[in-house]
Amino acid sequence: TSSDHTLVPASSDRPGDDPIFRLNAMAQARAAAGEDVLNATLGALFTDDGQLAVMPSVYDAMRSIDGRRAAGYAPIRGQAEFLDAVVRDLTEGTTLAGQAIAVATPGGTGAVYNAIVNFLEPGNALLTSSFYWEPYGILAEHSGRRFATFRNFDESGAFDVAALEVEARRLIARQGRLLLVLNTPCHNPTGYSLDAGELERIGDLLLELSGEAPVTLLLDLAYEKFAAPHTASWQPLAERLVGRVQVLAAWTASKAFTQYGSRIGALAAFHSADATPETREHLANALGYTCRGTWSNCNNLGMLTVAKVLNDPELRARSIAERGELVALLDDRVQAFNREAAAAGLAYPRYEGGFFVSVFTDDPDGTVARAQDKGVFFVPLDGAVRLALCATPAVTIPRLVETLASSLEG
Ligand code: PLP
Repeated sequence: TSSDHTLVPASSDRPGDDPIFRLNAMAQARAAAGEDVLNATLGALFTDDGQLAVMPSVYDAMRSIDGRRAAGYAPIRGQAEFLDAVVRDLTEGTTLAGQAIAVATPGGTGAVYNAIVNFLEPGNALLTSSFYWEPYGILAEHSGRRFATFRNFDESGAFDVAALEVEARRLIARQGRLLLVLNTPCHNPTGYSLDAGELERIGDLLLELSGEAPVTLLLDLAYEKFAAPHTASWQPLAERLVGRVQVLAAWTASKAFTQYGSRIGALAAFHSADATPETREHLANALGYTCRGTWSNCNNLGMLTVAKVLNDPELRARSIAERGELVALLDDRVQAFNREAAAAGLAYPRYEGGFFVSVFTDDPDGTVARAQDKGVFFVPLDGAVRLALCATPAVTIPRLVETLASSLEG
Protein backbone atom coordinates (compact mmCIF):
# COMPACT_ATOMS: atom_id res chain seq x y z
CA THR A 1 0.00 0.00 0.00
CA SER A 2 1.06 3.56 -0.59
CA SER A 3 2.29 5.64 2.33
CA ASP A 4 0.55 8.63 0.73
CA HIS A 5 -2.75 7.76 2.38
CA THR A 6 -1.89 6.93 5.95
CA LEU A 7 -3.32 10.05 7.57
CA VAL A 8 -6.11 9.11 9.97
CA PRO A 9 -9.54 10.02 8.56
CA ALA A 10 -9.99 13.09 10.79
CA SER A 11 -6.68 14.49 9.54
CA SER A 12 -7.05 13.61 5.88
CA ASP A 13 -9.12 16.63 4.86
CA ARG A 14 -8.10 19.49 7.11
CA PRO A 15 -8.52 23.07 5.86
CA GLY A 16 -5.32 24.57 4.46
CA ASP A 17 -4.13 28.09 5.03
CA ASP A 18 -5.79 30.21 7.68
CA PRO A 19 -8.22 32.45 5.70
CA ILE A 20 -6.90 35.62 7.34
CA PHE A 21 -3.33 34.85 6.36
CA ARG A 22 -4.51 33.99 2.84
CA LEU A 23 -6.29 37.33 2.45
CA ASN A 24 -3.28 39.12 3.86
CA ALA A 25 -1.02 37.39 1.32
CA MET A 26 -3.36 38.45 -1.48
CA ALA A 27 -3.32 42.08 -0.29
CA GLN A 28 0.46 42.04 -0.04
CA ALA A 29 0.86 40.59 -3.52
CA ARG A 30 -1.31 43.34 -5.03
CA ALA A 31 0.58 46.01 -3.07
CA ALA A 32 3.88 44.55 -4.31
CA ALA A 33 2.55 44.82 -7.87
CA GLY A 34 2.24 48.57 -7.33
CA GLU A 35 -1.41 48.96 -6.36
CA ASP A 36 -2.52 51.37 -3.63
CA VAL A 37 -3.86 48.68 -1.31
CA LEU A 38 -5.47 49.16 2.08
CA ASN A 39 -4.88 46.00 4.08
CA ALA A 40 -7.10 45.70 7.17
CA THR A 41 -6.78 41.93 7.58
CA LEU A 42 -3.95 41.12 9.96
CA GLY A 43 -4.12 41.22 13.75
CA ALA A 44 -0.89 42.96 14.65
CA LEU A 45 -0.37 46.61 15.50
CA PHE A 46 1.43 48.56 12.78
CA THR A 47 2.65 52.14 12.98
CA ASP A 48 1.30 54.68 10.49
CA ASP A 49 4.32 54.08 8.22
CA GLY A 50 3.49 50.39 7.96
CA GLN A 51 6.12 48.96 10.31
CA LEU A 52 5.31 46.45 13.01
CA ALA A 53 4.99 48.47 16.23
CA VAL A 54 7.51 47.29 18.83
CA MET A 55 8.61 48.29 22.33
CA PRO A 56 12.31 49.18 22.72
CA SER A 57 12.18 48.49 26.47
CA VAL A 58 11.43 44.84 25.66
CA TYR A 59 14.48 44.57 23.40
CA ASP A 60 16.65 46.21 26.06
CA ALA A 61 15.45 43.66 28.60
CA MET A 62 16.06 40.85 26.10
CA ARG A 63 19.64 41.99 25.48
CA SER A 64 20.34 42.07 29.22
CA ILE A 65 19.53 38.37 29.72
CA ASP A 66 22.48 36.07 30.19
CA GLY A 67 22.83 33.98 27.03
CA ARG A 68 23.61 30.73 28.82
CA ARG A 69 20.61 31.12 31.09
CA ALA A 70 18.35 31.80 28.13
CA ALA A 71 19.74 28.84 26.20
CA GLY A 72 18.93 26.38 28.97
CA TYR A 73 15.65 24.59 29.52
CA ALA A 74 13.03 26.45 31.51
CA PRO A 75 11.08 24.62 34.21
CA ILE A 76 8.06 22.79 32.76
CA ARG A 77 5.57 25.13 34.45
CA GLY A 78 7.62 28.19 33.58
CA GLN A 79 10.18 30.43 35.25
CA ALA A 80 9.03 31.34 38.77
CA GLU A 81 9.98 35.01 38.36
CA PHE A 82 7.91 35.17 35.18
CA LEU A 83 4.88 33.49 36.74
CA ASP A 84 5.07 35.70 39.85
CA ALA A 85 5.27 38.81 37.69
CA VAL A 86 2.33 37.71 35.55
CA VAL A 87 0.20 36.94 38.61
CA ARG A 88 1.09 40.36 40.02
CA ASP A 89 0.19 41.97 36.68
CA LEU A 90 -3.19 40.21 36.80
CA THR A 91 -4.06 40.74 40.46
CA GLU A 92 -2.45 44.01 41.58
CA GLY A 93 -4.85 45.99 43.74
CA THR A 94 -7.23 43.04 44.20
CA THR A 95 -7.76 40.37 46.82
CA LEU A 96 -6.79 37.66 44.33
CA ALA A 97 -3.02 37.88 44.67
CA GLY A 98 -2.42 34.83 46.87
CA GLN A 99 -5.12 32.81 45.13
CA ALA A 100 -3.59 31.97 41.79
CA ILE A 101 -1.76 29.04 40.24
CA ALA A 102 -0.10 29.94 36.95
CA VAL A 103 1.78 28.04 34.28
CA ALA A 104 3.63 29.33 31.24
CA THR A 105 2.08 28.68 27.85
CA PRO A 106 3.04 29.50 24.25
CA GLY A 107 0.94 32.66 24.05
CA GLY A 108 -2.72 32.99 24.83
CA THR A 109 -3.30 30.15 22.37
CA GLY A 110 -1.50 27.71 24.66
CA ALA A 111 -3.43 29.05 27.65
CA VAL A 112 -6.76 28.39 25.91
CA TYR A 113 -5.60 24.88 24.96
CA ASN A 114 -4.50 24.15 28.51
CA ALA A 115 -7.88 25.31 29.82
CA ILE A 116 -9.84 23.21 27.32
CA VAL A 117 -8.11 19.92 28.08
CA ASN A 118 -8.27 20.38 31.86
CA PHE A 119 -11.77 21.75 32.32
CA LEU A 120 -13.71 19.80 29.66
CA GLU A 121 -14.03 16.05 29.23
CA PRO A 122 -13.42 14.67 25.75
CA GLY A 123 -16.66 15.17 23.81
CA ASN A 124 -17.76 18.16 25.93
CA ALA A 125 -18.27 21.49 24.19
CA LEU A 126 -16.80 24.81 25.22
CA LEU A 127 -19.18 27.74 25.04
CA THR A 128 -18.43 31.13 23.56
CA SER A 129 -20.22 33.93 21.70
CA SER A 130 -21.35 33.52 18.07
CA PHE A 131 -18.69 36.00 16.97
CA TYR A 132 -15.44 34.43 18.11
CA TRP A 133 -11.75 34.02 17.47
CA GLU A 134 -11.56 31.04 15.06
CA PRO A 135 -8.82 29.11 16.86
CA TYR A 136 -11.20 28.46 19.81
CA GLY A 137 -13.05 26.06 17.54
CA ILE A 138 -9.86 24.50 16.20
CA LEU A 139 -8.36 24.04 19.67
CA ALA A 140 -11.57 22.39 20.87
CA GLU A 141 -12.01 20.07 17.88
CA HIS A 142 -8.35 19.16 17.72
CA SER A 143 -8.32 18.08 21.36
CA GLY A 144 -11.39 15.86 20.98
CA ARG A 145 -13.72 18.46 22.50
CA ARG A 146 -16.53 20.32 20.79
CA PHE A 147 -17.66 23.84 20.30
CA ALA A 148 -20.92 25.67 20.96
CA THR A 149 -21.95 29.29 20.70
CA PHE A 150 -24.71 31.60 21.91
CA ARG A 151 -26.05 34.62 20.02
CA ASN A 152 -23.55 37.39 20.73
CA PHE A 153 -25.81 40.45 20.50
CA ASP A 154 -29.53 40.96 21.05
CA GLU A 155 -31.79 43.12 18.86
CA SER A 156 -30.70 46.26 20.70
CA GLY A 157 -27.03 45.47 20.02
CA ALA A 158 -26.23 44.63 23.64
CA PHE A 159 -24.39 41.50 24.78
CA ASP A 160 -27.03 38.77 24.90
CA VAL A 161 -26.87 37.38 28.44
CA ALA A 162 -30.27 35.70 27.98
CA ALA A 163 -28.95 33.71 24.99
CA LEU A 164 -25.85 32.81 26.98
CA GLU A 165 -28.06 31.45 29.76
CA VAL A 166 -30.09 29.23 27.40
CA GLU A 167 -26.97 27.67 25.83
CA ALA A 168 -25.18 27.31 29.17
CA ARG A 169 -28.15 25.46 30.64
CA ARG A 170 -28.42 23.24 27.57
CA LEU A 171 -24.75 22.29 27.81
CA ILE A 172 -24.93 21.65 31.54
CA ALA A 173 -27.93 19.37 31.01
CA ARG A 174 -26.01 17.47 28.33
CA GLN A 175 -22.50 17.28 29.70
CA GLY A 176 -22.74 18.15 33.39
CA ARG A 177 -20.18 20.94 33.27
CA LEU A 178 -19.54 24.29 31.63
CA LEU A 179 -16.50 26.05 30.24
CA LEU A 180 -17.42 29.57 29.13
CA VAL A 181 -14.77 31.48 27.18
CA LEU A 182 -15.11 35.25 27.08
CA ASN A 183 -12.65 37.46 25.25
CA THR A 184 -12.97 40.87 26.86
CA PRO A 185 -12.07 43.71 26.83
CA CYS A 186 -11.69 44.53 23.13
CA HIS A 187 -13.23 41.34 21.81
CA ASN A 188 -11.73 39.89 18.65
CA PRO A 189 -13.47 40.19 16.20
CA THR A 190 -16.18 42.64 17.24
CA GLY A 191 -14.25 45.15 19.37
CA TYR A 192 -16.85 44.89 22.13
CA SER A 193 -15.84 45.34 25.77
CA LEU A 194 -18.28 44.02 28.37
CA ASP A 195 -19.41 46.82 30.68
CA ALA A 196 -19.79 46.59 34.46
CA GLY A 197 -23.52 45.83 34.26
CA GLU A 198 -22.98 43.00 31.76
CA LEU A 199 -20.16 41.54 33.83
CA GLU A 200 -22.41 41.63 36.85
CA ARG A 201 -25.27 39.86 35.08
CA ILE A 202 -22.89 37.21 33.75
CA GLY A 203 -21.59 36.82 37.30
CA ASP A 204 -25.13 36.35 38.66
CA LEU A 205 -25.79 33.68 36.06
CA LEU A 206 -22.55 31.78 36.63
CA LEU A 207 -23.05 31.79 40.39
CA GLU A 208 -26.52 30.38 39.91
CA LEU A 209 -25.28 27.70 37.48
CA SER A 210 -22.42 26.77 39.79
CA GLY A 211 -25.06 25.42 42.19
CA GLU A 212 -25.93 22.83 39.54
CA ALA A 213 -22.63 21.78 37.97
CA PRO A 214 -18.92 22.63 37.88
CA VAL A 215 -18.58 25.94 36.05
CA THR A 216 -15.38 27.40 34.63
CA LEU A 217 -15.00 30.89 33.23
CA LEU A 218 -11.96 31.48 31.02
CA LEU A 219 -11.25 35.16 30.52
CA ASP A 220 -9.16 35.64 27.42
CA LEU A 221 -7.34 38.90 28.17
CA ALA A 222 -5.34 39.08 24.94
CA TYR A 223 -6.16 42.78 24.31
CA GLU A 224 -6.64 43.96 27.89
CA LYS A 225 -3.83 46.51 27.79
CA PHE A 226 -5.43 48.24 24.81
CA ALA A 227 -8.81 48.89 26.41
CA ALA A 228 -10.11 52.44 26.76
CA PRO A 229 -9.28 53.87 30.21
CA HIS A 230 -12.84 53.77 31.59
CA THR A 231 -13.41 50.13 30.51
CA ALA A 232 -14.82 47.91 33.25
CA SER A 233 -12.19 45.60 34.71
CA TRP A 234 -12.73 41.88 35.11
CA GLN A 235 -11.17 41.55 38.55
CA PRO A 236 -14.29 42.46 40.60
CA LEU A 237 -16.13 39.67 38.76
CA ALA A 238 -13.30 37.23 39.50
CA GLU A 239 -13.26 38.28 43.17
CA ARG A 240 -16.98 37.64 43.35
CA LEU A 241 -16.87 34.24 41.62
CA VAL A 242 -13.69 32.78 43.05
CA GLY A 243 -14.30 29.70 45.20
CA ARG A 244 -17.61 28.88 43.48
CA VAL A 245 -16.78 29.30 39.81
CA GLN A 246 -13.35 28.27 38.55
CA VAL A 247 -12.02 31.50 37.09
CA LEU A 248 -9.13 31.23 34.64
CA ALA A 249 -7.21 34.03 32.93
CA ALA A 250 -5.34 33.66 29.63
CA TRP A 251 -2.46 36.16 29.72
CA THR A 252 -0.23 36.89 26.73
CA ALA A 253 2.73 39.08 25.84
CA SER A 254 1.84 38.96 22.13
CA LYS A 255 0.00 42.28 22.14
CA ALA A 256 0.81 43.69 25.58
CA PHE A 257 4.55 43.57 24.85
CA THR A 258 4.31 43.40 21.02
CA GLN A 259 6.03 39.99 21.11
CA TYR A 260 3.73 37.98 18.86
CA GLY A 261 6.51 35.73 17.66
CA SER A 262 8.13 35.07 21.02
CA ARG A 263 5.18 32.93 22.15
CA ILE A 264 5.07 34.07 25.76
CA GLY A 265 1.87 33.52 27.70
CA ALA A 266 0.39 32.07 30.85
CA LEU A 267 -2.73 30.44 32.19
CA ALA A 268 -3.70 31.53 35.70
CA ALA A 269 -6.28 29.58 37.72
CA PHE A 270 -7.80 31.31 40.74
CA HIS A 271 -8.84 29.31 43.78
CA SER A 272 -10.65 30.14 47.01
CA ALA A 273 -8.79 31.90 49.82
CA ASP A 274 -9.04 28.82 52.01
CA ALA A 275 -8.00 26.28 49.36
CA THR A 276 -5.89 23.50 50.85
CA PRO A 277 -2.29 22.91 49.77
CA GLU A 278 -3.58 19.72 48.08
CA THR A 279 -6.04 21.71 45.98
CA ARG A 280 -3.28 24.04 44.88
CA GLU A 281 -1.04 21.10 44.11
CA HIS A 282 -3.72 19.32 42.08
CA LEU A 283 -4.30 22.45 40.02
CA ALA A 284 -0.60 23.05 39.48
CA ASN A 285 0.01 19.41 38.56
CA ALA A 286 -2.90 19.29 36.12
CA LEU A 287 -1.81 22.44 34.28
CA GLY A 288 1.84 21.40 34.36
CA TYR A 289 1.06 17.93 33.02
CA THR A 290 -0.54 19.51 29.98
CA CYS A 291 2.56 21.63 29.42
CA ARG A 292 4.71 18.50 29.58
CA GLY A 293 2.39 16.59 27.28
CA THR A 294 2.32 19.22 24.55
CA TRP A 295 5.03 21.88 24.24
CA SER A 296 7.12 20.66 27.21
CA ASN A 297 8.50 24.02 28.28
CA CYS A 298 8.21 27.53 26.89
CA ASN A 299 10.54 30.15 25.41
CA ASN A 300 13.05 30.79 28.17
CA LEU A 301 14.44 34.04 26.77
CA GLY A 302 10.92 35.35 26.37
CA MET A 303 9.91 34.53 29.93
CA LEU A 304 13.08 36.01 31.40
CA THR A 305 12.59 39.11 29.26
CA VAL A 306 9.01 39.71 30.34
CA ALA A 307 9.94 39.04 33.98
CA LYS A 308 12.68 41.63 33.69
CA VAL A 309 10.41 44.24 32.11
CA LEU A 310 7.76 43.70 34.77
CA ASN A 311 10.19 43.61 37.70
CA ASP A 312 12.80 46.26 36.85
CA PRO A 313 11.39 49.67 37.87
CA GLU A 314 13.11 51.60 35.07
CA LEU A 315 12.20 49.13 32.31
CA ARG A 316 8.71 48.78 33.68
CA ALA A 317 8.13 52.55 33.60
CA ARG A 318 9.50 52.75 30.08
CA SER A 319 7.37 49.86 28.88
CA ILE A 320 4.25 51.52 30.27
CA ALA A 321 5.12 54.79 28.51
CA GLU A 322 5.90 53.00 25.24
CA ARG A 323 2.68 51.04 25.40
CA GLY A 324 0.83 54.27 26.16
CA GLU A 325 2.03 55.63 22.84
CA LEU A 326 0.77 52.54 21.05
CA VAL A 327 -2.60 52.79 22.77
CA ALA A 328 -2.79 56.45 21.70
CA LEU A 329 -1.89 55.49 18.12
CA LEU A 330 -4.72 52.97 18.10
CA ASP A 331 -7.10 55.36 19.84
CA ASP A 332 -6.73 57.90 17.00
CA ARG A 333 -7.94 55.17 14.65
CA VAL A 334 -10.80 54.18 16.95
CA GLN A 335 -11.97 57.80 17.09
CA ALA A 336 -11.62 58.22 13.34
CA PHE A 337 -13.55 55.01 12.74
CA ASN A 338 -16.40 55.95 15.07
CA ARG A 339 -16.68 59.37 13.44
CA GLU A 340 -16.70 58.04 9.87
CA ALA A 341 -18.79 54.96 10.56
CA ALA A 342 -21.50 56.93 12.34
CA ALA A 343 -21.63 59.40 9.43
CA ALA A 344 -21.85 56.51 6.94
CA GLY A 345 -24.59 54.83 8.99
CA LEU A 346 -22.72 51.55 9.46
CA ALA A 347 -24.16 49.02 11.91
CA TYR A 348 -21.54 47.87 14.39
CA PRO A 349 -21.23 47.05 18.10
CA ARG A 350 -20.02 49.45 20.78
CA TYR A 351 -16.35 50.05 20.01
CA GLU A 352 -14.12 52.04 22.33
CA GLY A 353 -10.71 50.46 21.89
CA GLY A 354 -8.86 47.42 20.64
CA PHE A 355 -7.32 45.98 17.51
CA PHE A 356 -10.54 45.13 15.63
CA VAL A 357 -14.08 46.17 14.97
CA SER A 358 -16.77 44.30 13.04
CA VAL A 359 -19.47 45.79 10.86
CA PHE A 360 -22.69 43.82 10.49
CA THR A 361 -23.82 42.71 7.02
CA ASP A 362 -25.98 39.95 5.57
CA ASP A 363 -23.52 39.56 2.71
CA PRO A 364 -20.02 39.35 4.16
CA ASP A 365 -18.46 37.46 1.23
CA GLY A 366 -19.91 39.81 -1.38
CA THR A 367 -18.88 42.85 0.66
CA VAL A 368 -15.32 41.55 0.97
CA ALA A 369 -15.14 40.74 -2.75
CA ARG A 370 -16.47 44.14 -3.85
CA ALA A 371 -14.09 46.00 -1.52
CA GLN A 372 -11.19 43.88 -2.80
CA ASP A 373 -11.94 45.09 -6.32
CA LYS A 374 -11.34 48.59 -4.95
CA GLY A 375 -8.07 47.57 -3.29
CA VAL A 376 -9.44 47.37 0.26
CA PHE A 377 -9.00 44.12 2.19
CA PHE A 378 -10.81 42.93 5.31
CA VAL A 379 -12.05 39.62 6.63
CA PRO A 380 -15.50 38.03 6.18
CA LEU A 381 -17.23 36.57 9.24
CA ASP A 382 -20.63 34.96 9.64
CA GLY A 383 -22.92 38.02 9.54
CA ALA A 384 -20.24 40.71 9.58
CA VAL A 385 -16.87 41.77 8.27
CA ARG A 386 -13.87 42.37 10.51
CA LEU A 387 -11.68 45.44 10.14
CA ALA A 388 -8.19 45.33 11.65
CA LEU A 389 -7.72 48.96 12.65
CA CYS A 390 -4.48 47.85 14.28
CA ALA A 391 -3.09 47.70 10.75
CA THR A 392 -4.63 50.82 9.17
CA PRO A 393 -3.26 54.37 9.69
CA ALA A 394 -5.84 56.93 10.88
CA VAL A 395 -5.58 58.86 7.57
CA THR A 396 -6.74 55.78 5.62
CA ILE A 397 -9.86 55.22 7.70
CA PRO A 398 -12.12 57.50 5.62
CA ARG A 399 -11.24 55.38 2.58
CA LEU A 400 -11.76 52.18 4.54
CA VAL A 401 -15.21 53.20 5.76
CA GLU A 402 -16.27 54.71 2.44
CA THR A 403 -15.23 51.61 0.52
CA LEU A 404 -16.92 49.31 3.00
CA ALA A 405 -20.12 51.38 2.97
CA SER A 406 -20.25 51.34 -0.83
CA SER A 407 -19.50 47.58 -0.95
CA LEU A 408 -22.26 46.42 1.39
CA GLU A 409 -24.70 46.00 -1.48
CA GLY A 410 -23.99 44.47 -4.86
N1 PLP B 1 -7.18 35.32 22.02
C1 PLP B 1 -7.56 36.14 21.06
C2 PLP B 1 -8.97 36.60 21.04
C3 PLP B 1 -6.68 36.56 20.07
O1 PLP B 1 -7.09 37.38 19.10
C4 PLP B 1 -5.36 36.09 20.12
C5 PLP B 1 -4.41 36.47 19.06
O2 PLP B 1 -4.71 36.80 17.98
C6 PLP B 1 -5.01 35.24 21.16
C7 PLP B 1 -5.94 34.88 22.09
C8 PLP B 1 -3.69 34.63 21.38
O3 PLP B 1 -2.62 34.99 20.69
P1 PLP B 1 -1.20 34.48 21.16
O4 PLP B 1 -1.24 33.01 21.16
O5 PLP B 1 -0.28 35.06 20.18
O6 PLP B 1 -1.02 35.04 22.54
